[in-house]
Amino acid sequence: MLDFLGSLQRTHMCGALRASDAGSSVVLMGWVNRRRDLGNLIFLDLRDRTGITQIVITADAGAELHKKAESLRSEYVIAVIGHVKLREASTINPNIPTGEVEVVADELRLLNDCKPLPFSPADNDIANEELRLKYRYLDLRRPEMYQNMVLRDRVSIAVRQYLTSQGFHEIETPILTRSTPEGARDYLVPSRVHNGEFYALPQSPQQFKQILMIAGFDKYFQIARCFRDEDLRADRQPEFTQIDLEMTFARPDGIFAIVEGFLTAAWKTIGVDIATPFPRMTYDEAIRLYGIDKPDMRLPAMSDVKSCFAPADLATLNIDPDLPIVAIVTPKVGELSRKERDDLKLLFGDRREAKVFEDIKRLEKSFPEAVSKIREIAKPNADDLLVLVAGSKAEGGPQLPSVGNCGENPRLTNKERELLGIAGQFRLALGQKFAANHGAFAQRDFRFLWVTDFPMFEWDETEGRWNAAHHPFTSPHEEDMPILESDPGAARSLAYDVVLNGTELGSGSIRIHRQDIQSIIFKALGMSPEEQQLRFGYFLEALQYGTPPHGGIALGLDRIVMILAGASSLREVIPFPKTAKAIDLMMDAPTPVSDKQLKELGIAVVSRKDI
Ligand code: ASP
Repeated sequence: MLDFLGSLQRTHMCGALRASDAGSSVVLMGWVNRRRDLGNLIFLDLRDRTGITQIVITADAGAELHKKAESLRSEYVIAVIGHVKLREASTINPNIPTGEVEVVADELRLLNDCKPLPFSPADNDIANEELRLKYRYLDLRRPEMYQNMVLRDRVSIAVRQYLTSQGFHEIETPILTRSTPEGARDYLVPSRVHNGEFYALPQSPQQFKQILMIAGFDKYFQIARCFRDEDLRADRQPEFTQIDLEMTFARPDGIFAIVEGFLTAAWKTIGVDIATPFPRMTYDEAIRLYGIDKPDMRLPAMSDVKSCFAPADLATLNIDPDLPIVAIVTPKVGELSRKERDDLKLLFGDRREAKVFEDIKRLEKSFPEAVSKIREIAKPNADDLLVLVAGSKAEGGPQLPSVGNCGENPRLTNKERELLGIAGQFRLALGQKFAANHGAFAQRDFRFLWVTDFPMFEWDETEGRWNAAHHPFTSPHEEDMPILESDPGAARSLAYDVVLNGTELGSGSIRIHRQDIQSIIFKALGMSPEEQQLRFGYFLEALQYGTPPHGGIALGLDRIVMILAGASSLREVIPFPKTAKAIDLMMDAPTPVSDKQLKELGIAVVSRKDI
């Protein structure tokens, strides 16, 4: 028999009771987390979002109350009217904040019962994630999930407060819009009023925020939902949240300072002070030193040790003399057995274009001078693992357009980038494999970094043309304007990424604010004037009405909260996430819709293979 709540008012939250409350009368409401029935004595752990309080129903509470307590099961919703009592010293539970007290029940009201559970929110490790997502409301009752959602809220507030204090305004932009050029597939929404026409959900508020700069808003931000219909990788979601901002008259320095400011505020929510300004590195430096554009700096950088070998050595070793020889140091690995060294070869994989030297001592026997010089450059400690990655001779990799030289530093060729990329992946794989030895990933060590001067274009092998490496509104590097058309592969952009421990937290750029340059970029991307008009006509026009220089950035809020929570997946910090197959298991979306709805939209669904 369920009871009515009547005029009963909750007086305390379950997690809030302390020794100083002893003697107080209380009314608590919440869920039965667990029930322990000792016959005469029944204990209930009553849970609400703040924590757990132990409720005691003693034998002298009366047969009726005792019977009611006996009938309670996990996740029944109850009200407890009682009084707070200090626990005996021997029964104090130091593991919970309310562990010094318990509430002796004088009355229980059963407000709702609960079906047999697919899993109990009282359990810690629930292996079946699909079940957790299907019954998300039960999953979200778990204190750990509640904490993650609260952290998310705190981080959003900290970011908002910081940006507001810096003169930014949060401005909403539409969800029903037209295709934006982030390069992913759009989610489309059919228009009922305009049969055969579609809105697109925004991949980001990119064009709107630029329009807001043209409109004179000066400093915009938004904690914005973005939608990208990508094939999902483990750490992606079809809809995700960005901290999106844009500033007028900004140079990269100004944008970096703002981002460092709100990240400092975000990290304060977990009590961590981060050091600013973050180090900076160009894209080319990142590739040279880490073989990747999102370096994890918790492990040593790579070094080029080609100069340690004489040309004849390279020939003997069958090494491509035109490519770097990369030394990788993995700390604290210790001595490896023959078998363990062979495993390193397997980890590297069987590659045509690159080879690994995983046994330095053996190499040292034949090339003592070279290896001694390598040790001087790479500086491994006695128990560090030192391996080399080099290009294999006379193995042509994929033929990509060549990259020229520009600026003061010779730019990397595609073959160099490729080899450094292979070495960089191997460095990370070694880092993971020996994570327990070096312990660098286990500490709360947050290594932020700005990567700047990304290439302007990326070669799309399947389409045989250049794509914008960031998006087509990104400004080229002023120094590289003259080579935009003659040597697009060498042109750098004013795009930058903020990176943390090998993860890209966000990307942005200084934008093109002149219509003439925007046209050059569209042309370089192979877009005809007609196509430019069709896709971005309004934007090209807007650029001609006194557009100020501007730039911005967007950071993934989900990822930031995941890192702050120390969570293993984005799904742990998104209240209602989708599965890796883009399904909402709780709502069961997507679903077919009724014929009536389709008819109104003028849409007939046919099987994909029949098109
Ligand atoms: N809109 C861009 C993105 O989502 C970020 C930016 O350039 O501000 O990647």
